[in-house]
Amino acid sequence: MYNYNHKLRKNKAIKNKKIISLMAGSLLLLQTFFTGSSVLAQEKNEQFNFSDLLRSLETGEVKKVSIDPSTNIAYVYLNGENDNKPQKVKLFNQNPELIAKIREKGVDFVVESSAANTAALLNTMQLGILLLLIIGLFLLIKKSASGAAGAMNFGKSRARFQMEAATGVEFKDVAGIEEAKEELQEVVVFLKTPDKFTAVGAKIPRGVLLIGPPGTGKTLLAKAIAGEAQVPFFSISGSEFVEMFVGVGASRVRDLFKKAKENAPCLVFIDEIDAVGRQRGTGIGGGNDEREQTLNQLLTEMDGFEGNTGIIVIAATNRPDVLDSALLRPGRFDRQVMVDYPDLKGRLGILDVHAATKKIAPEVSLDTIAQRTPGFSGADLANLLNEAAILTARRRKEAITMSEIDAAIDRVIAGMEGTPLVDSKCKRLIAYHEIGHAIVGTFTNGHDPVEKVTLIPRGQARGLTWFTPDEEQGLISKTQLFARITGLLGGRAAEDIIFGNDEVTTGAGNDIERVTSLTRQIVTKFGMSELGPLALEGDEQPIFLGNDTVNRSEYSQEIAEKIDLQIQKIVYQCYENAKKIIIDNRPLIDNLVDQLIEKETIEGDVFRQIVANYSKKQPILVKN
Ligand code: ADP
Ligand code: MG
Ligand code: ZN
Repeated sequence: MYNYNHKLRKNKAIKNKKIISLMAGSLLLLQTFFTGSSVLAQEKNEQFNFSDLLRSLETGEVKKVSIDPSTNIAYVYLNGENDNKPQKVKLFNQNPELIAKIREKGVDFVVESSAANTAALLNTMQLGILLLLIIGLFLLIKKSASGAAGAMNFGKSRARFQMEAATGVEFKDVAGIEEAKEELQEVVVFLKTPDKFTAVGAKIPRGVLLIGPPGTGKTLLAKAIAGEAQVPFFSISGSEFVEMFVGVGASRVRDLFKKAKENAPCLVFIDEIDAVGRQRGTGIGGGNDEREQTLNQLLTEMDGFEGNTGIIVIAATNRPDVLDSALLRPGRFDRQVMVDYPDLKGRLGILDVHAATKKIAPEVSLDTIAQRTPGFSGADLANLLNEAAILTARRRKEAITMSEIDAAIDRVIAGMEGTPLVDSKCKRLIAYHEIGHAIVGTFTNGHDPVEKVTLIPRGQARGLTWFTPDEEQGLISKTQLFARITGLLGGRAAEDIIFGNDEVTTGAGNDIERVTSLTRQIVTKFGMSELGPLALEGDEQPIFLGNDTVNRSEYSQEIAEKIDLQIQKIVYQCYENAKKIIIDNRPLIDNLVDQLIEKETIEGDVFRQIVANYSKKQPILVKN
């Protein structure tokens, strides 16, 4: 993959390194400089002065005089003294008297600019340090200046879009969203043979909007189109357009399309387009100028494709409702393709794709996995198989077996497994709570069968009761909904009956939340209460001021009270039913709780066996 951003970052790092080493160099020199100056100070204590020199010359004590013109110091070698330690004499600028005297006395006389002369050396060093500091400073200034300039033309210097010359993804790698694939097959043909369409005067659509929840394969699908058509794939995320600096987004759009035009035919993928493509002039906190500019630039670019330039823009979002209508006009994203959660067959297809690259034991049935995973997205399924593979490796097994798959499903749905609780009153209460769910679920008409009950904590939950969804959850009947409410209340009902109303715990908090929201929907959306088939509440939507999607309640205060009454009535009735089941089956429940505490987990089949055995012995207690 060729990533602009990455490469630029690398260069910058190298630049920084250079400056740092330079700075370190001058620091080192600075230290030498300081030691040097202390040497200088010591040398000032010389005792031999100019008049001493003249006197010595007069008396004939001097053997040799060496003058250094660069420093104007005379080195005087005296008779009988160590030649290595000449006396130093600071001279005046002009010394005709001295020269004459030396000549007169016939003393050896040399003029030499000594390289070993410390003072001179220090002088040059000082100069050198100064020079280095200046260079260092200059580089620093230059760097910060270029940084500032970078802020000016961000989009250019720090392009955040990625380009893949070949994605390597094919349509066969995308499963479970057959309709979307079929619709997009056409786009591949456009990209491959634009001339065919130009010849008959057809205008190639410019933009396709992929709409669907996260993880359903929108990005994958876009890559597959580029892969099938064998064109380059440019991608950027909407959130990357919107930056601190105004104008950056727009310039990024410009850059992106400039590069795309150079590489046409190609595919431009804009992820999370809702980040820039929101309805303009609305939104809490006033309009976002930056976003508007970016969006305008995007629209301009898309309008600017002359004829069939061979660039197709594919955008993805999971919030089509907030998109600016200008984006959806013909000539822009006029084609919209839904990418939804896969159904049973779709999940099987996706599992097939991802199982192909993994070692899976022959007894594993992908069918069973597909059945157990309603509501899973493609990404969830890919993640599921990967988790199972990791677990298999950790267990040092040859191939993935059903045991790893089960563990992975539980993990993907409910989170990480915790350590089992130690035996205590608390554990008993949790056991009664979970068995309560399981038993109430089992004895309520229209409830899904128990898959397993466990006391091993997972994620936020301290114990869990799993139910197998019967079939595809397309339509759900009133009986099923009420059964679900009753089952959800089974945990609290068990706590209430067995430990007493004062001993109930917070453990049922999540159950009660779900009961309340489900019941509210039954009353206000599904029209299944005594209030009749009235839609009293729309979909929950975020509020956008200025855009008429404010979620105002569509009923009077009087109706509101009636709704609350209906909700109370339904929940109360279901709770009574649940409590009755608990009371009627107390010995069975006690028995199940003992077994659960001993074994930590009871599988669905075992659970049903125990219930069946018990019912045979005491048939009066079963059913109500
Ligand atoms: P989205 O863009 O819709 O959020 P992605 O395309 O990024 O989802 O999907 C993430 C990953 O999940 C993909 O890379 C792929 O491994 C897997 N995946 C998702 N949907 C599918 C699918 N329909 N078929 C095969 N794999 C899928
Ligand atoms: Mg994506
Ligand atoms: Zn519960």
